[in-house]
Amino acid sequence: MNYKASFPQTRLRRLRYSPVVRKMVTESSVFVDDLIMPLFVCPGVNVQNPIKSMPGNFQLSVDNLVKECKVIFDLGVKSVLLFGIPEHKDEDGTVACQHDGIVQKAIRAIKKELPEIFIVADVCNCEYTVHGHCGTIVNNDVDNDLTLVTLAKQSVSLAKAGADMIAPSDMMDGRISAVRKALDENGFVKIPIMSYAAKYASGFYGPFRDAAESAPKFGDRASYQMNPANSDEAMREIALDIEEGADIVMVKPAMSYLDVVYRAKQMFKMPLAVYNVSGEFSMVKAAAANGWIDEKRLMMEIVTSFKRAGADIIITYFAKDIAKFIKEKQKK
Ligand SMILES: [Zn+2]
Repeated sequence: MNYKASFPQTRLRRLRYSPVVRKMVTESSVFVDDLIMPLFVCPGVNVQNPIKSMPGNFQLSVDNLVKECKVIFDLGVKSVLLFGIPEHKDEDGTVACQHDGIVQKAIRAIKKELPEIFIVADVCNCEYTVHGHCGTIVNNDVDNDLTLVTLAKQSVSLAKAGADMIAPSDMMDGRISAVRKALDENGFVKIPIMSYAAKYASGFYGPFRDAAESAPKFGDRASYQMNPANSDEAMREIALDIEEGADIVMVKPAMSYLDVVYRAKQMFKMPLAVYNVSGEFSMVKAAAANGWIDEKRLMMEIVTSFKRAGADIIITYFAKDIAKFIKEKQKK
């Protein structure tokens, strides 16, 4: 762009005096339609375990989860992302592929009461393996190709239960084509895949691991999740996932990776999601609890920055709060 504007003819403050004009020239907005609320489902009846490090979030048994989905849906948030905390774990996460698995049960229960809600099912093994890694362990390493088998099975099982979209979060090579192939072979050609395409090995996931009880028992996830220093590699990850059939690509975490979000949107022009992860949420909540920041203002500033960078979809633990905030604002 060739800007010829110069002072004093051009005064950018002219458009900032009137709130009406400020709204007219607003470039990025967050809508309730953009939001997906992550939820954690656990065994039992009438369970509501508060997740200490994530104020306002809970591990919910299926009955309470259904109630929570109704509350979320009534607020205008039309989509949830489900994570399961199973009763039993095993070596390779096959408990995640069972017909009566915790998330499968949850999906069926939600769909029975609230068929209109759009359920995204996270697909990974870390919540279901005894060692907490995202795949099957062979010689102290997550075996890529063996893990693809369970990921594909898990995806089909979740689709059978009624999931509307499958979201593989494991970062194995080749998982999108494996999942797509399995879904198609089982008649789920219409189920889209939202791929955690550029998922970083991040310290921002700390509170989530409490919530999903999925911390690795040995080592870390650096051999499959991405190095936070890399952005070119993120473009390669995203390109591969698109080639393998991803319908939506995701960058995770969000706040510290907006350069990656921007690049991805510019380069691929694909529907793009960001995951505003647990640590990003908890930092805001903690600072607000100390009276150091204005929580609502920061919340909106952060999610607006995702849209400004190029995101279309925002997965966030703030989804309910944002929906309430937008509703309040519309009343004024
Ligand atoms: Zn995982």
